[in-house]
Amino acid sequence: MNFRKASALAASILALSLTATACGGGGDDEDGDGGGSGGGGGESITIGIKFDQPGLGLKTPDGDFAGFDVDVATYVAGVLGYEPENIEFVEAPSAERENLLSRGDVDFIVASYSITPEREESVSFAGPYFLAHQDLLMRSGEAVSSVEEINDLTLCSVTGSTSAQNVQNDFAPDADLFERGTYSECLTGLENGQVDALTTDDSILAGYAAQEQNVGKFELAGLELSDENYGIGIPKDDTELQTQINDAIQQMVDDGSWQQAIDENFGPANYETEPAPAIAATS
Ligand code: GLU
Repeated sequence: MNFRKASALAASILALSLTATACGGGGDDEDGDGGGSGGGGGESITIGIKFDQPGLGLKTPDGDFAGFDVDVATYVAGVLGYEPENIEFVEAPSAERENLLSRGDVDFIVASYSITPEREESVSFAGPYFLAHQDLLMRSGEAVSSVEEINDLTLCSVTGSTSAQNVQNDFAPDADLFERGTYSECLTGLENGQVDALTTDDSILAGYAAQEQNVGKFELAGLELSDENYGIGIPKDDTELQTQINDAIQQMVDDGSWQQAIDENFGPANYETEPAPAIAATS
C-alpha cells in the first residue's frame, strides 16, 4: 500500500464519515481499498522488522512478533490509526531495507536501522528512537578487551549493515570478515568455531546472549565501537509521514510507553540502554 495515497484517501473518508455521523472514533467504518491513516477501519499497514533478533524484532514459533522494534512499530502505527491486528509485519533484512522502501513494499521500517548519510541518499528517517553501540559477541572466556586486538580476529557480520562497514573502513580493516544475510547465521558460526566474534550493535548481541539456549555460552566485549542511532526508515522525502512518526515517537517517550517497552524487552538480557535520544531533523 502506498502510504501517502492511502492517508490522503483516508483523510477524505474520515471527513465524509464525520459529516455523515457527526461522531468519529468508531473503527467500524468500511473504507474499501485505500488504506487508512487516522481512521482505522480494517485497512492494513505494512511494516518491515527483523525476524531473528530477540529483544528487538523476533518472529516467534507460534507466528507472533516480539521485541522493542515491534513495540515501537505497533505504537507508531496506533497513533497513525492502525489497530495491531491490521499491521502486517514483513522481514526486512539489513541489505534489503533501502530496496523495500524504494519499491514501496513497506510503509516504513523499524529494524535496528541506523541513520547514516549514505542511507539518506535513498531513504529518509524519522527519529532517532534508540541509541546502540557496536560491540563484539565472543565465546565466554575468550573476549578481547581492546580495539587493537580486533584486527587479529575472524569476524562475522551482516551484508548491508553499518557493522560490517565499520569493521572494514574503521576499526579493524585487517580482520577477516565473513558476511552473512542475518545475524543468526553469524551466531551459528560463532557457536561452531568458524569465527571468533559476531560483531554488530550491543542491543542485538545482548539479545542473543540472553536466549535460554545460549546462557553462559557467550559474552559481550563491551567496547562501544560506534554510535548507532536507530531511525524509522520511510520513503525518501516523505516529510508528512516523517513529522507524524516523529510526533508518535515523542508521545511514546512522554507517556512512559517507551521506557516500559525498554524494560520489558531488554530487562531480561540485563542490557543497559541509553536514554531516549532527542529526535533530530534529518533530511
Ligand atoms: N544498526 C546497524 C545497521 O543498521 C546494524 C544492525 C542491522 O544490521 O540491523 O546496519
